[in-house]
Order: sequence, then structure tokens, then C-alpha cells
Amino acid sequence: MSNYDKVMKLALERGFYFPGCEIYPDAPAGFWEYGPTGVSLKNKFIELWRRQLVRRDGMMEIDGCQVMSKSVFVASGHISNFTDPVMKCTKCGSIFRADRFIEEKTGDRVPERLSNEDIDALVKKHGLKCPNCKGELGNVSRFNMMFRLGIGPAAEEAYLRPETCQSIFVDFSRVFKTMRGRLPMGIAQIGKSFRNEIAPRQSLLRLREFYQAEIEVFCNPGRLDEMPRFEEVKGTTLRLFKDGDSDITVLTAEEAIAKGLVPNKLVAYYLALLVEFYEKTGIDVIKSRFRRLSDEEKAFYATVAFDFEVQTSTGWLELVACNYRSDYDLKGHAATSKENLEVVDPVDQKKVLPHVFELSMGIDRSLYTILEHSYYEEQVKEETRAVLKLKPYLAPVLVGILPLMTKDGLGEKARKIHSDLKLDFDTFYDESGSIGRRYRRLEEAGAPFAVTIDQATMQDDTVTVRHRDSMQQERVKVSDLRQFMQNALAI
Ligand SMILES: [Zn+2]
Repeated sequence: MSNYDKVMKLALERGFYFPGCEIYPDAPAGFWEYGPTGVSLKNKFIELWRRQLVRRDGMMEIDGCQVMSKSVFVASGHISNFTDPVMKCTKCGSIFRADRFIEEKTGDRVPERLSNEDIDALVKKHGLKCPNCKGELGNVSRFNMMFRLGIGPAAEEAYLRPETCQSIFVDFSRVFKTMRGRLPMGIAQIGKSFRNEIAPRQSLLRLREFYQAEIEVFCNPGRLDEMPRFEEVKGTTLRLFKDGDSDITVLTAEEAIAKGLVPNKLVAYYLALLVEFYEKTGIDVIKSRFRRLSDEEKAFYATVAFDFEVQTSTGWLELVACNYRSDYDLKGHAATSKENLEVVDPVDQKKVLPHVFELSMGIDRSLYTILEHSYYEEQVKEETRAVLKLKPYLAPVLVGILPLMTKDGLGEKARKIHSDLKLDFDTFYDESGSIGRRYRRLEEAGAPFAVTIDQATMQDDTVTVRHRDSMQQERVKVSDLRQFMQNALAI
């Protein structure tokens, strides 16, 4: 079984995630739901993101609507540009996403900006046919990936947002004014986005409805190297790569600027924050890289783009798109809305239309990668134990409370300990099955600790605390448990 399959099995069995509408045969692909353990992990991931990025950098967070007017996407370019190339079999009518289809059949990467004609030429060159019926493939056309909605009885045209950041651009001038903003200023948002993917696949890795954590840093394009906060991260290691390189270049943020591999201090600062954040998630950052995108690969709005990618059993997985979007978005919204979106930079009291550098994070993919990088199988005597070595501050359950047996008052004592802790910590009370089975269930859900209440507890008011990773046990006073758990949660 591949690691992907193992994580999937664990996700289904332990309540991390599962397919949407799964009891119905017409459930559409590309929609997945989080169960109780998944929600807990996701909430903690988001709190860590707030701590390490939003609060650390003094960003502001907003929560915009998922439904947005057509004008927004005229201005943003999504109506005309947010398309995927598709082709239809002339014989059986099967529809394929052209670039992926060619990549799968030939192993060549098809750049995002290739024209329809160039893609047709590739199909001809490789003599590609419909895999279902061997029929001829028709010419490439464009499919817009936004979900179109009709609002109210008149069905006014609107769309589900394909990226959360459009609310940030639309709201920028109000937030800047009311919150007395200063450039550079980060505005952050967590929320759902929707893309009508032609070929959703691999559970959380390519969804039609997904969570993003996006940060848009508004900056003065004339001051990208005036970044006092850069000092905090100048020694942070960046791992840089571009296609054609034989190896990843590993160097500090400061060296990356000196060598011209990262364009300025502002970009380097945020790339470094991102690495420091992912280190805290438990993802092995030695297996990560910032891949600099070529001109053909970049999204239509980006001038400089790095994808933060992590190695998984499915290959390199893009977790964050880091795009220098220049003034593309604010200019588009200013022109379409006729609003002046310039702001005064207090440094020189001059008006400026800010540029934007963004960190567009996929939450679902990040959670998948955390699970895969935390998953271990270990031999314990004759048994193989599956254990999820999540950081305590990300673990869905911090501690399991397990009475060795329920008689002689042990069950009562255990329930008392549970109720003393459950409001402040994620605890799980479990009295069913052998103690070994109960440990296994907790380990698979990533719980770092198990507290066992036994006969000795009734004598001296101590419990056994078992550590998930080392399986070591120690006696802890019941009155010290709260402090023990608090210490364990330190980031
Ligand atoms: Zn066909």
C-alpha cells in the first residue's frame, strides 16, 4: 500500500475526512468533508497560521463573502482568463483536460499559457487518441472553471469565488482607511473557494470546493527593500529551485537576495516566514522547495511566482503559491468600479497604488501533507503499530483518559479527571476494550498522551501518563495534570 493509500485508510477510519454526500450514488466528485478529528486538526492548523503569520507580522484578517458579483471577476480577469483547455472525443464524446491528458500520455510538462493551437499541434505530433474508444480528439476549447450562480428570482449573474483574495482586493481601501493602515500591510483571510475542476482527484489534493488561507501584502513598489523586519529572518534557510536545475539551491534568505535568486527583501521575508510556519507544522521542510515558475507557467496575474512544494508519495505537491501580482488587481478593480484605490504612503506623503505580494495557501493539501509526514508504522514485538506523530498543538486529541477497568471506583475517578480537563484541553474518555487497543486507537488519531487510572491512583492520587512516540510511561500527580498538559502545548 502506498503512503497515500495508508493516509486515506486512516482518514476514513479515524474520522479525518471522507467523500461528501457519500450515501448517494449521484454524489459529485471533488467534494470531501472533514469529520471530527479532521475539523480539530484543521482548526489548530488555522490557529498556528494565525500565530505564526497573521499575528507575528501584524496582519489584519477579514472574512469575505463566497458569492461575489460578476463585476468582480470582470475586473479580476477571471471571466476571460480563468479557463482550462478541454478537448472532446469526436466519436464517444468523452471530455478531457487537454494539458493534463498530454502530460499523462507523454510525460512532458504542458505550460499553463500554451495557446489552443499549440496544444492541438502537440496532440497531432504525439498522435494522441481517445483512451476510451480510440476515436479522434476534437480541437481544444476553453472551459471557465468558475461556478456560475443566479441570484434571486431574476437569476442575476454572480459567481462563487475561485480564490478568496478577491474579497481582500475589493475591501482593501476600506480596511486600509478604517484600520489606519501603513504599507507594507498584510490582509489575511481563511475561507472556501470553488473551482469547477474538470478532473478532480486524490481526495484533498484536487477539490472543487476547498479551503484557502490567503495573505495579500500591499506594498509600495518603490520600497521593496526597505524592510526592517527582514533582520529577523535573514538567516532562515530557503530552498530554491527552478526547472532545469540539477539540484535545489540551499541558502539563507540574505544570500538568496545577494545572488539575485529572490528579487527583494519583502519577498524574501515572506518566503522565510512561510518556511518557519511549515517547520512548526511538523512537515519535513528538508523535503520542500520554492520552485520558481517560468513565464509560461505563471498564473495570468503574476509577474514573479514561486510555488512552495513538498515531496509526498504522490510527487511534489504545491502547498502555497507565492505570487508577486504587482498592481494587476487593484488597477483592474479601480478601472471597473471607477473607485480610486490609491492610498497615501505616510513615509513620503505621496499617493500610490500599492503592489501586492501574495501567499496563497491550500489548507486541505497542507493537512494531507502533515498527515503523510507524521504517519509512521513501527514494529512493537509481533505487532505493527500505526502512529500519527502530530505536534501536540496540532493533535485533534491531546490526551486520552483511560480507566484500567471501571470497577472499584476507577471509572468514576477517571470520569472526574476527564471532566476537570475537558473544557480546556481536547480530551477523549475511553473505557471500552483492552488497554492495548485503546492505546492503538489514540496513536492512530495522533493523541500525544494517554492517562491511565489504575489501583494505585486510588491510593496516592497519581496516574500513569504514557507518551505516544516513545511509549514511555511516568507517574504524574492528578493535581499536576493540568500544568503537564499546558507545558506540552508550548509551540
Ligand atoms: Zn472516445
